[in-house]
Amino acid sequence: MGDGAGGERKSKFILIAGAGPAGLAAALELARRGFAPRIVDDGDGPVPPEESRALGVNARTLTLLSPSGVAERIVTAAQPIAHFRIRSGSKTLADVDTRQVRGRFGAMHALAQGVTERLLIEALASYGIAPEWRTAIAAEPIADVLAPVVTLRRADGATETLRPDIVIGADGAHSAVRKALGAGFPGEALEAYFHIADFRYVKPVDAQFAEITLFDPGMIGRLPVSGDVLRYISTRQDFEDRIVHPEVVAEKVWVSQFRIHFRHVEPMAKGNVFLVGDAAHIHSPAGARGMNLGMEDGCWLAWLIAEGREQEYSALRIPAVKQVLKQTYGLTRLITMENPLAIATRNLVAPLLLRFGPARRRLLHNIAGYDTPKPPWIDWAE
Ligand SMILES: Cc1cc2nc3c(=O)[nH]c(=O)nc-3n(C[C@H](O)[C@H](O)[C@H](O)COP(=O)(O)OP(=O)(O)OC[C@H]3O[C@@H](n4cnc5c(N)ncnc54)[C@H](O)[C@@H]3O)c2cc1C
Repeated sequence: MGDGAGGERKSKFILIAGAGPAGLAAALELARRGFAPRIVDDGDGPVPPEESRALGVNARTLTLLSPSGVAERIVTAAQPIAHFRIRSGSKTLADVDTRQVRGRFGAMHALAQGVTERLLIEALASYGIAPEWRTAIAAEPIADVLAPVVTLRRADGATETLRPDIVIGADGAHSAVRKALGAGFPGEALEAYFHIADFRYVKPVDAQFAEITLFDPGMIGRLPVSGDVLRYISTRQDFEDRIVHPEVVAEKVWVSQFRIHFRHVEPMAKGNVFLVGDAAHIHSPAGARGMNLGMEDGCWLAWLIAEGREQEYSALRIPAVKQVLKQTYGLTRLITMENPLAIATRNLVAPLLLRFGPARRRLLHNIAGYDTPKPPWIDWAE
């Protein structure tokens, strides 16, 4: 089970639609193994750092991005999250030291998705590959999935017809590639909306911990974006009035709100057309798993292609996807519950459980992303 890194340029024509984290990770891992994929994206460029959805980069992702050298660059740019706390009012119910997780990386680092994307693009540039921006793949049905024919449309209206050996749909939740395959996206949407506000402070703040404060009902999560920017995320519309700011606010950097869906496509591939990242699965941000799982898909698919085993992709990834969906569903239900009795029980039981070693270790193991299969091409212990 070799890594297959380096060597001469491999001749397979691989088209990646979508230069978000999942598509970029796939492109980089393919480039590292001697392939020269084309990667197109209908956007203008990577996500602006101040409009980043994902912040949490887990230990498993850092393992996967180590061979390319990107992990070290992420660690240098990111805030390590040393503690994860659960609070109710002024009381700390649980305080988990995330550095206790095994392995060379802490369980979680925080870095704006826009910065992670730029680091991946920089690494890809060293192989002479750059995303082609303002270039969309059309959602036209793919008649023969073994010999796919696809159309690209540029912003100036020019079109191009391509016959790639392999198409990788990394084009997000509304994936044109998934639609072109005629695949559904079954699942459910939760009633609750999540609200986000990022604040910059006049001075650096303590950015070394993530915290959830439980209310009755609802919660406010606090996460570091950088040394002087914090994100608050909540199920409560009035959450901004309840934030206890650690420092004087200089500016509100970003506000957003979104509804949570739990959906996944099965199988994650048909013939030579593959789906990675949000194109294949979406779920709540509880646990900070979406971007990480998408990059993991991209890295696995690149390895399988290099091994000539890409037809195993869906069967290998579906159990990991289901595991993460199940876990984030449970976590989301826990933080969005409204029944007073259930809330009281949760507030009593959760901190008690987290005092015990096995429950803490399990939580850390999952936060680190170690609950999905270890990448077989990485030969050192995580
Ligand atoms: C509030 C919030 C917080 C989150 N926090 C975290 C977190 O802390 N950690 C975590 O792991 N995840 C988190 N997530 C999830 C994470 O943001 C996503 O899972 C991640 O962005 C998915 O990456 P992707 O590359 O699959 O898709 P995307 O990031 O959506 O990228 C898809 C790309 O495809 C392009 N595209 C779309 N259509 C086409 C087309 N037809 N042709 C060509 N290109 C196309 C788009 O322009 C885009 O660049 C969070 C999500 C939300 C909403």
